[in-house]
Amino acid sequence: MRTMKAMIVGGGLGGIAAAVALRKIGWQVSVFERASEFGEVGAGVGVMPNALRALDELGVGAEVRLLGTPQGTGGVRTWHGRWLVRLPNTGDQRVVAIHRADLHRALLSALPPECLHTSAEVTDVDSLEADLVVAADGINSGIRALLWPNAPAPVSAGVTAWRGVTARTFPGLEISQTLGRGREFGILPLGDGRVCWYAAAVTSITAAGGVREVFDGCHDPIPDLLAATPAEAVLRHDIHELATPLPSYVSGRVALLGDAAHAMTPYLGQGACQAIEDAVVLAAACASEPGVKLALARYDAQRRPRTKAISRAARTMGTFGVELRDPIGVALRDAVLRFTPPRLAMRAMTRFSSWLPPALNQRVTGGNFPDPPAVLK
Ligand SMILES: Cc1cc2nc3c(=O)[nH]c(=O)nc-3n(C[C@H](O)[C@H](O)[C@H](O)COP(=O)(O)OP(=O)(O)OC[C@H]3O[C@@H](n4cnc5c(N)ncnc54)[C@H](O)[C@@H]3O)c2cc1C
Repeated sequence: MRTMKAMIVGGGLGGIAAAVALRKIGWQVSVFERASEFGEVGAGVGVMPNALRALDELGVGAEVRLLGTPQGTGGVRTWHGRWLVRLPNTGDQRVVAIHRADLHRALLSALPPECLHTSAEVTDVDSLEADLVVAADGINSGIRALLWPNAPAPVSAGVTAWRGVTARTFPGLEISQTLGRGREFGILPLGDGRVCWYAAAVTSITAAGGVREVFDGCHDPIPDLLAATPAEAVLRHDIHELATPLPSYVSGRVALLGDAAHAMTPYLGQGACQAIEDAVVLAAACASEPGVKLALARYDAQRRPRTKAISRAARTMGTFGVELRDPIGVALRDAVLRFTPPRLAMRAMTRFSSWLPPALNQRVTGGNFPDPPAVLK
């Protein structure tokens, strides 16, 4: 039988995960990345249990757990530091905090160097000689614009985010999220004692200055974490999302994957996790269907409803989280959170992370997809 060939546009977490997944089912892959080298820049990422299971399927889950830090107890706090929600250590539902560069490297190490091409910008898909083209070219995907010229462009969420990793250690911290008025702050302790953090504020507040000014007066140790992060190593982004879902993630032999297909706001920490899920589902569909057309139809049917639901939930999370500024609304939100039983809070948090990946067997025949999660039924 002829070896099937895939060309992957974009070497971010989604594109590299797709390459690993397709190689696992016996395909020949080439990845084209327009930057001069592969890599991810200076911040951490929370890998949710759903993505960890997908990484297990790709054969890199153990390495990611080793390089990353599984999180223990944690919860949600007010601006002044009072706990609103306390969450227990959740065993196999634990999030793993990892530096993006380490996650990217773990995936990259599963690929032979000869399939990786840098300084290789792809500007059209017709010239690519492949059975399958995977467009993993990010939120501003050029391929999406080519194939869906009328699709609305990403829109601003009106929120600015900063990310960083402290240069010194802060022992004894727990995973937590702090909710203020029009601001939020996330703490993900790393195994070596350094802390990877995420901060966000509605963009009108950011006129007050940089992240240190915006979080001045927030509870300890947040100002210290910011002071311990070199200013030049802080990443700042205005948050955008694809607010209008695409009518399809596939066109002919092209599949959109990751942010190219469903860029979402980061408030559920699921963007990269969904890109990794996409990769495993795409490869499983290619392994189990008799042709690329059927495989892509299956990929689209499996991925669009779930990623649409997660994008919507992330948006709602933003509405009641970082975007809430009105003092009465904030007080109400905090009261609701304070009286939410931990069991219910836990269920809300694990709503999307109980997903199970399909098995990645080479040339399996049909039926290797789990039922869709209850939330989508
Ligand atoms: C503040 C913030 C915090 C976040 N936190 C989390 C988190 O905790 N957990 C989580 O799961 N997700 C998180 N995310 C989301 C996550 O970062 C993204 O969803 C994920 O990185 C998308 O990966 P991707 O591979 O689809 O796209 P990208 O990472 O954007 O990769 C696209 C790649 O394609 C390349 N490219 C583009 N065009 C071309 C072309 N024409 N030819 C060749 N190459 C091209 C680009 O150079 C790039 O390398 C966060 C996002 C933000 C903004």
